[in-house]
Amino acid sequence: MERVVVVVVVGGGVLGTMHAVSARRRGLDVLHIEREPEARGASVRNFGLIWVSGRAPGPELSLALRARAGWEELAAEVPGLGFRPNGSLTLASDDVELRLLKEAASQPDAAVRGFEFLDAATAREINPALRGEFAGALRCRRDGAVEPRLALPAIREHLQAGAGQPAGDGQPAGYRWLAGREVAEIAPHAVRDHTGEWHHGDLVVIATGANHTGIAGQHLAGYPKSPVRRVRLQMMQTAPFDGRLTTSVADGDSLRYYPAFDLPGRARLAPQAPAAAATAAQLLLVQRLDGSLTIGDTHEYDEPFAFDVHEDAYDHLRTRAERLLGSPLPPTQRRWAGVYSQVTGTDLYHRSQIAPGVILVTGPGGRGMTCAPAIAEETFT
Ligand SMILES: Cc1cc2nc3c(=O)[nH]c(=O)nc-3n(C[C@H](O)[C@H](O)[C@H](O)COP(=O)(O)OP(=O)(O)OC[C@H]3O[C@@H](n4cnc5c(N)ncnc54)[C@H](O)[C@@H]3O)c2cc1C
Repeated sequence: MERVVVVVVVGGGVLGTMHAVSARRRGLDVLHIEREPEARGASVRNFGLIWVSGRAPGPELSLALRARAGWEELAAEVPGLGFRPNGSLTLASDDVELRLLKEAASQPDAAVRGFEFLDAATAREINPALRGEFAGALRCRRDGAVEPRLALPAIREHLQAGAGQPAGDGQPAGYRWLAGREVAEIAPHAVRDHTGEWHHGDLVVIATGANHTGIAGQHLAGYPKSPVRRVRLQMMQTAPFDGRLTTSVADGDSLRYYPAFDLPGRARLAPQAPAAAATAAQLLLVQRLDGSLTIGDTHEYDEPFAFDVHEDAYDHLRTRAERLLGSPLPPTQRRWAGVYSQVTGTDLYHRSQIAPGVILVTGPGGRGMTCAPAIAEETFT
């Protein structure tokens, strides 16, 4: 890579923000541009799960573990991002799911994931809020969580304070956040925003998420087939729950989707309940620091996406969560949908040089919040 002094980052989501962090750690000046007053894409709509348990063995697991270490390291400097190494329990509802959990716990990489198979009584000792029905659990000690609505502003505040910067040649690098500017044009080593102002960098990083038809559009539309697709998810959040979940929780449906569970026992799983199958739903449940519960999700793959949210999926997720918790959920306070960009091939994410000195990074799919610190590091190494 040419000598880089100034980096322009476009996109205020987690990928853009982690590129800003990586650049600042190298003593580089950063101009960070976002079209909205605050990030509004997938990065603020997700669970905040730093999810090691579901990752495919090999490069994906390795990327996730490096990224998790990155989150932990950053959290030591920025406690406001809300990282906690709370682990997770994936709960089986029948014997077939249970056998798949045992199979996962006996894989060669189980130890690095911190996998441990638990009977139901032991799982309840670890997470006493789980007073409902389930057959057993897979614990993943390496899973963690952050606060998606708080993390990005907290990281930016840290960058603006100039903390943790190498002394370099005596000129401390700077960080500037430029919100409300939509980038409309790309040129070598530069971008133009909607006001007409040009911004020049030795390196420009475009991290515009699932915006596949904007400035990144022509670079993503090519090929025989686009290297990325968009996926839409439904989510909800309750009022504060009267109890503390010591871990994040997933149900047995998650075994049908995460590649870590692509093991022989998966073929024996029963079909999903019709309401879950119709929306490719799995239950993931995270308690926020304020006590509320973030609950999801569904997966919609075919565009045009619905512009409204579907109640059947929420009914299913609520019922499933109540069955595992053994108590009624607090009232729902928020519902929303989010869209992420996902690579269609075997890569873990998409990176391409789209002009001299301009790199496009997107497409991490459902692992983007987890993996962003490591993806950003890979851009600079
Ligand atoms: C509902 C949901 C739940 C998820 N849960 C998890 C999870 O728990 N764990 C996990 O690891 N991953 C999760 N993911 C995936 C993860 O959230 C994404 O992979 C990740 O947030 C993508 O980050 P990003 O920065 O690429 O995109 P985004 O967060 O979408 O950010 C892109 C930003 O670029 C801005 N932008 C776009 N175009 C322009 C332009 N022309 N000029 C200026 N700015 C522009 C947008 O406004 C936006 O703020 C989830 C995703 C969703 C939707």
